[in-house]
Amino acid sequence: MHLDGSCHCGAVRFSVESRHPYPFALCYCSICRKTAGGGGFAINLGASTDTLRIEGEAHVRTYRARMHDDATGEETQSEGERKFCGLCGSALWLWDPRWPELVHPHASAIDTDLPVPPERTHLMLGSKATWVEPCVMPQDQPFEEYPEESLEAWHKRLGLER
Ligand SMILES: [Zn+2]
Ligand SMILES: [Zn+2]
Repeated sequence: MHLDGSCHCGAVRFSVESRHPYPFALCYCSICRKTAGGGGFAINLGASTDTLRIEGEAHVRTYRARMHDDATGEETQSEGERKFCGLCGSALWLWDPRWPELVHPHASAIDTDLPVPPERTHLMLGSKATWVEPCVMPQDQPFEEYPEESLEAWHKRLGLER
């Protein structure tokens, strides 16, 4: 599926091909909800890096999340690169050098009408903000941390791969 996306101010526009465009995975982790989750979570889609086309790339900034290891007290930086517009702050996509062929656009940055998922996965609920009461429907799957099932496997199981 062809996806068009942009930031709010319009300085950055992008397009990408996605075989896994259902916005089903709601992540409540502290990074997602702080950087891109006004409602307490963020949703990323699965797409192919080699199809990513960017206009206004000069305005794209990168945030590598600061990670704190509670066990060791060690401060590290996530390898994952969170891309956002340097002018308006809109979250755009996530890219990780460990999986360079994959890019994960934020559903919030996509202008193309996305398909409605028949069920949702709620992940990292153990990290959610106290005020967030997740709307978990009977068909949904809730997880305290990450689920085993990948974005690709979810689409395959439901026969929704594009
Ligand atoms: Zn912008
Ligand atoms: Zn997250």
